[in-house]
Amino acid sequence: MQTQDHRQTGQVNSHIRTMAAALSSQVALVRKSNRLLYSLRSHFHTSNGLSSKEHYKVVVLGGGAGGIAMGARMKRKVGAEHVAIVEPSEMHYYQPMWTLVGAGAKTVSASGRPTASVMPSGVKWVKSRVMKIDPKNNTVFTESGKEISYDYLIVALGLRLQYEKVKGLPEGFEHPKIGSNYSVKTVEKTWKALQDFKEGNAIFSYPNSPVKCGGAPQKIMYLSDSFMRKTGKRSKANIIYNTSLPVLFGVKKYADSLWEIVKSRDLNVNLRQNLIEVRADKQEAVFENLDKPGETKVYEYEMLHVTPPMGPPAVLKGSSLEDQAGWLDVNKDTLQHKKYTNVFGIGDCTNLPTSKTAAAVAAQSGVLDRTITKVMKKDKPDKKYDGYTSCPLVTSYKTVILAEFDYDGQPLETFPVDQSKESRIMYHMKADLMPHLYWHGLLKGLWGGPGPYRKIMHLGMK
Ligand SMILES: Cc1cc2nc3c(=O)[nH]c(=O)nc-3n(C[C@H](O)[C@H](O)[C@H](O)COP(=O)(O)OP(=O)(O)OC[C@H]3O[C@@H](n4cnc5c(N)ncnc54)[C@H](O)[C@@H]3O)c2cc1C
Repeated sequence: MQTQDHRQTGQVNSHIRTMAAALSSQVALVRKSNRLLYSLRSHFHTSNGLSSKEHYKVVVLGGGAGGIAMGARMKRKVGAEHVAIVEPSEMHYYQPMWTLVGAGAKTVSASGRPTASVMPSGVKWVKSRVMKIDPKNNTVFTESGKEISYDYLIVALGLRLQYEKVKGLPEGFEHPKIGSNYSVKTVEKTWKALQDFKEGNAIFSYPNSPVKCGGAPQKIMYLSDSFMRKTGKRSKANIIYNTSLPVLFGVKKYADSLWEIVKSRDLNVNLRQNLIEVRADKQEAVFENLDKPGETKVYEYEMLHVTPPMGPPAVLKGSSLEDQAGWLDVNKDTLQHKKYTNVFGIGDCTNLPTSKTAAAVAAQSGVLDRTITKVMKKDKPDKKYDGYTSCPLVTSYKTVILAEFDYDGQPLETFPVDQSKESRIMYHMKADLMPHLYWHGLLKGLWGGPGPYRKIMHLGMK
């Protein structure tokens, strides 16, 4: 009886195995044909012009700070179903927090939220990259094979990090002792390098290109100095800030305060020094003297923080939307494109002659909202952007100098106090209040910068 049971069980098992094998080969066949279908579809999308076509009244390129803010504002203006945002990333990051992440004061997870959660509801999220912009025919093309036409286009593509312009990067980040707050992939490496610091040179670089948040390359130096003092390592550290710029900071009022801090904390600042190579295996960094091209100096480091060269989004090249340097060519007052009247720009991708920050994006979003309203009504844009930008210069784990200024580099301070002085309240604003303002104000299209509050704070005098 037992033998018969065994035989029957064996037969059942063998049936199951045969069925499983048949099923898995069917699954493989289905997967193969799906792959074939997908590749055929993408082939036709891209090469035979049979791509899916869509039209929206407003198309926004980029779903970062400026793109989401403008998407929310346009939704209110023309209705959600008439707006599309093209953005490939699954996660949206509040990048200003990365200064604190690199110094261990915040976590990288606290800086990010799923893109789906910040998309204005009802607005079409085209989860892809824009590959080509054809402003003559009011059309953009995406990597996923979509051809999207528009009545109005808002370009909010941010800028491109160019680590590869420094010899030895980005592969150098595979070694320890080196980090960069500018990318989500490398920001935690800064904190690791800082914690692992024993003794030697701690070097902080600033590239020979426009950057976003011009203060961030030195904020991490002040935080590192504070951390080393807290952990008793400061006497063993030689802290060096090698910057390509001829100044410590672009606005004299704040630069004067920063020079005082630099001197009092024994931080070495070398101007016009550009990082050109990292030999991460040997812990060496090579800088070129920009005033004497070809003259280089090799530094050994125990910690290196890299601010990479940055440039305009590649997709603008050859689109006839860019200026000579490749940035989106917009009117500095109205943010309307200089050649195509139904194209507008916001944020880091533009050639607006101001410091590239999220604070600037906020102020720009209010002006751009107004400009587009006027253009849609066939009126002349009337509101002018004054170049407002802001940089909370974190000078320790409890202090900030809140730089705020305009196109002319003139301070445009919100509070009726001297903001060039280090302040604890400003630190709390940076660390605790500004993230809320970003997620719940700017991204919802409700925060257009502190202009109206400045007037109230200064009793209408500014
Ligand atoms: C370390 C650090 C510290 C900073 N500190 C501050 C600060 O203290 N205060 C401050 O105000 N600002 C700060 N900033 C700057 C601020 O984060 C940026 O200026 C701001 O995010 C610019 O917004 P944006 O919309 O122009 O670009 P982003 O927010 O960078 O968004 C651009 C978007 O475009 C998308 N994109 C790119 N290419 C394509 C494509 N081909 N197709 C579709 N989408 C594409 C990207 O995925 C991205 O989502 C800091 C930034 C960093 C990195």
